[in-house]
Amino acid sequence: MTELKTPPPLPLYDDDRSIGHSTFAVHNPATGAKLAELPISSADEVALAVGRARRAQSGWAALSHKERARLLYGWRSRLMANRGGIVDTLVSETGKPRQEALLELLYIADLIGYYCSNAPKFLKDRQISLHLLKNKRALVAYQPLGVVGVISPWNFPLILSFGDSIAALVAGNGVVIKPSEVTPLTALLVAELAEAGDFPAGLIEVVTGLGETGAALIDQADLIAFTGGTATGKKVMERASRRLVPVLLELGSKDPMIVLKDANLERAVNGAVTGAFFNAGQVCISVERVYVEEPIYDRFVSRVVEEVNKLRVGRDPDGQHNIDVGPMTFLPQLEKVERQIEDARQKGATILTGGQRQGDGPGQFYAPTVLTDVRDDMLVMQEETFGPVLPIIKVKDAQEALRRANASRFGLSSSIWTGDATRGAALARQIEAGSTCVNDVLINYTMPEVPFGGIKESGIGYRHGGPEALQKFSRAHSIIIDRFGLRRELNWMPYSKRTNQMLEGAMKLLFRRSK
Ligand code: NDP
Repeated sequence: MTELKTPPPLPLYDDDRSIGHSTFAVHNPATGAKLAELPISSADEVALAVGRARRAQSGWAALSHKERARLLYGWRSRLMANRGGIVDTLVSETGKPRQEALLELLYIADLIGYYCSNAPKFLKDRQISLHLLKNKRALVAYQPLGVVGVISPWNFPLILSFGDSIAALVAGNGVVIKPSEVTPLTALLVAELAEAGDFPAGLIEVVTGLGETGAALIDQADLIAFTGGTATGKKVMERASRRLVPVLLELGSKDPMIVLKDANLERAVNGAVTGAFFNAGQVCISVERVYVEEPIYDRFVSRVVEEVNKLRVGRDPDGQHNIDVGPMTFLPQLEKVERQIEDARQKGATILTGGQRQGDGPGQFYAPTVLTDVRDDMLVMQEETFGPVLPIIKVKDAQEALRRANASRFGLSSSIWTGDATRGAALARQIEAGSTCVNDVLINYTMPEVPFGGIKESGIGYRHGGPEALQKFSRAHSIIIDRFGLRRELNWMPYSKRTNQMLEGAMKLLFRRSK
C-alpha cells in the first residue's frame, strides 16, 4: 500500500452525533487552536459500547490465531498506509515532535507482529505434570476474558491506548478504550482504521468523555487496564473492587538515574538529556532525579547544561524536524511544573537553565530546566514532575545514591551508569523499581519480551513480559482429567476405617523423611 497523499480528516464531531450530548473540546497545545468538539459518552452509551464489543468478541474468540492475525495484520497495513494522517493527528493533539509521534506508530506496528506471531506459543494449552496424583492429567487452557476496558492518559495517546488493546485482542478479547479527554483524536482515528474488510465491527470501541466516562467503563468491562496518575489509579481500583473486576495499574513515578565515577561521561550526559526531555519529560519513566558521584559531578553538570541549552523548543507543524522539545500537552500539568519550580526556588535550589515558560505565543511551552542544590524536602524531589525538569544531586558514593534513590514512594524504572556492567547489574538489584537499565535509558519500554511494571505506588501488574503479556488478558482455566476410570476414589464417600488406614499408611510412606 502507498501512503495517502492527503491525510484523512480529523474526526471533528460537528454532525448529529453531538446532538443531545454534553461535549468537550480538544485543543492543539502548541497553537491553542481548537481541534474538535466531542460528545461526553454517558454511562448508558458506555454500556452499549461494551455490549457491541461483547457481541463482536464471541465470533472473534472462535477464530484461530492465524485468522485473528490475518485481520490484525490487515489493520496494521492500513495504519502504515495512513501513517501521515496518524502522525499529523498525534502531533496536533500533543504537540510532540513528529519523530516522537512516528516512534509511537513504530512501537504499535511492532507489537502487532510480536503478539500475532507468538500467540500460538504463548496461549497454547499448558500440560501440567502432577507431582502427587499420578492417576490424573491436568492442563491449563488460556481463554479470553471477554471485554477489556482500556483507560489511557494523554502523554502517548497511541502507545497507551493500543499497546494493551493489541495484547487483549490477540488473546481473543474485545476492547473498549476510554482515551484521555485531552488527546482522544488519535484513538478515534486508529480504531476507525481497524474497521475495514472483514474486521469485526464493534470489536474495538472508543468512548469519549471525562473521568465519569472512565468510571462507567469500570462498571461494565471484564478487566480494566489503566494507565495514568497514582491518585486516579487508586480510584479505579476502588471502583473495580465493587464488582471484583481485576485491574492492571500502570501509574506515575519519580525515576532515579545513578551515575558512578567510572561511567562513560558523554554517554551518561546524553542519556540524561534524552531521558529527562524526551516528550518534554511527560513520560512515566522519565529521568526525574540524577545522583552523581562526587568526582565527576561538576563535569557532568556543566556538560548537561551545555547539551540542554542546545535543545530546540517549539512547534513542528510542517514536518521540518527542527524541534527537539514540544509544548506540555496538558495545561494543569504545566502549572504543576511551575509550582514545583517555584517551591524549589524558594527553598534554595539553583536553576542553571530554564525555570520558566518559553515563547510569547499561545503554546504551552516550558523551557528545559536543570536544577542543582536541591533538597529531599522540595516538591520537585517528592512528587512526580512529568515535565521538562532535571534535578542533579551530588553523592559521596554508590551506597548514598542507592539509599536516596530508594527513598521514594514510587518505583517504576531506573538506570545506573558505570564502566563496570557487572557491578552495575549487581547494584541494579538493590534499586527498588520494576526495571533498571545499565548504561541506558527509556529503552526497556520497547521490549515486549521483558516485564514492564511498577512497584510501590507506581502500579500493580505488568505490561509486556513475553507469554504473560497475553496470558494476563486470559482466564487460566485448569482442566483435570481422570486417567483410570475406577469405580471409586480413595477419598470419595462412603468413608470407612479401611480407607482411613490406607490414607494414614500413604502419609507415613510419603512424609517420613524430615526433608
Ligand atoms: P489521569 O490519571 O489524570 O488520567 C488517566 C485516564 O483516567 C484518563 O483517561 C482520565 O480521563 C481517566 N480518569 C480520570 N478519572 C477517572 C476515574 N475516576 N475513573 C476512571 N477513569 C478516570 O492521568 P493523566 O492523563 O494526567 O496522565 C499522566 C499520568 O499517567 C502520569 O502520572 C504518568 O506517570 C502516568 N503514566 C504512567 C505510565 C505507566 O506505564 N506506568 C505511562 C504513561 C503515563 P480524563 O483525561 O478525561 O480525565
